Amino acid sequence: MHTLGFRFKPWIHDKSIADGPSILEYLNETIDENDLRNNILLNHSVNSANWNSDKSIWELEIKEKDLLKNMTCNFLFLCGGYFSYSKPHMPSFKNQEKFEGQIIHPQFWNNQIDYSDKKIIVIGSGATAITLVPAISERANHVIMLQRSPSYVVSRPSEDSINKFLRKFLPIKVTYFLIRWKNILWQSYTFFLARKFPQKIKEGILELLKDELGPEYNIQKHFTPSYKPWDQRMCLIPDSDLFKAINRNKASVVTDKVKQFESDGILLESGEKITADIIITATGIELNSLNDIDVTLDNIKINAHERLTYKGMMLSGVPNFALTFGYVNASWTLRADLTCEYVCRLINLMDKKGVNCCAPIDDENAYGDDDLIDFTSGYVQRGLHHMPKQGNKAPWKNYQNYLKDIFAVRLFSIKDSNLNFYSQKK
Ligand SMILES: Cc1cc2nc3c(=O)[nH]c(=O)nc-3n(C[C@H](O)[C@H](O)[C@H](O)COP(=O)(O)OP(=O)(O)OC[C@H]3O[C@@H](n4cnc5c(N)ncnc54)[C@H](O)[C@@H]3O)c2cc1C
Repeated sequence: MHTLGFRFKPWIHDKSIADGPSILEYLNETIDENDLRNNILLNHSVNSANWNSDKSIWELEIKEKDLLKNMTCNFLFLCGGYFSYSKPHMPSFKNQEKFEGQIIHPQFWNNQIDYSDKKIIVIGSGATAITLVPAISERANHVIMLQRSPSYVVSRPSEDSINKFLRKFLPIKVTYFLIRWKNILWQSYTFFLARKFPQKIKEGILELLKDELGPEYNIQKHFTPSYKPWDQRMCLIPDSDLFKAINRNKASVVTDKVKQFESDGILLESGEKITADIIITATGIELNSLNDIDVTLDNIKINAHERLTYKGMMLSGVPNFALTFGYVNASWTLRADLTCEYVCRLINLMDKKGVNCCAPIDDENAYGDDDLIDFTSGYVQRGLHHMPKQGNKAPWKNYQNYLKDIFAVRLFSIKDSNLNFYSQKK
């Protein structure tokens, strides 16, 4: 939470890895403290956005339940996350319709789902599965995490002892600042080590797992990925909760492929059959760069993949437009925070210059063939063709480096020959 939280609003709880309700409480407090509630329209979904260059405005079509509304704005800042909220990744399994129990995708989870004393199979081993399995194993009869291939799983204490110690005699804001920076530097350092010495880091992680799961457990099969650490996001678990569930025999891991669904479970390619009352398909998300919004320039559709990101925050040739894309090698939100700061600085600069338009100028020399993210995860590979590209040099390159970005966004001037400030008559 010290790096997931806002820079300006300290996280004051003991737990550094928090649950949904306490994150929601933190967000609600932030909204109330800054009197933002009247600025938020809930249950409004933006369908389309067209830049009208004659008028220098974005024309939006917005859906509120069954009602379509139109709104305009001068500057459009997309903060709709990075995955489709309506279309999760749902591979179709053979004979899926024959399963007689419930099949649930976690993206459509609701609190009415009764899983008490039920046998559950969770398909997947990404962040969602790793979070769900120990949580539902508390009430379920047994939970099987069925994975095609393992992910790196690392446990950290949910409470940070240095945070608790410093809070005893330092003001909350100072402690938050120090712990935030401790964690930022630690994350950067471990990412650097993993990329520089992947084999050593891999061995270190596997050694920790041996301590958690015991010498008899088949770590090679269930927790040793074929890829190097940080070629995909790592899964962080609080207080070894997943390992504790496995050790208590409330959860188990099966590494195999689904052959087909059957009326009472899943037949695996190895010939083994596992049974369940409920199957949860934690099979992932679909990446989405423009928040499912049909974005057009004078009614001509923008194809994000044909454009470069400018500082990873704007799109080449698109005026008065910014988008949030966080870090994949650190807290996503560190970059979301920086993007907000950048957009504020940019709008203030436009005001200072007395102009109503600003767009990154397309730089043909910066186009290489570089994908926005260098990650092997399925959701990244499936979605890269929607995403903007990164260029081969600054400001078109996506460095994934918070320390570097702080200079570019917070400290240095944002004036730049690649940014065109101009006024269009209204
Ligand atoms: C399983 C999982 C675990 C994660 N764990 C971590 C973690 O430990 N640390 C971390 O930093 N990040 C984590 N993330 C990433 C996490 O999603 C982000 O850090 C955080 O939620 C990003 O906040 P956001 O406000 O940018 O986007 P989101 O939280 O995705 O919010 C986007 C909002 O925009 C709305 N929206 C989308 N499209 C439209 C539209 N067209 N019109 C209107 N509204 C729209 C959505 O309904 C949603 O309310 C995790 C993600 C997943 C899926």
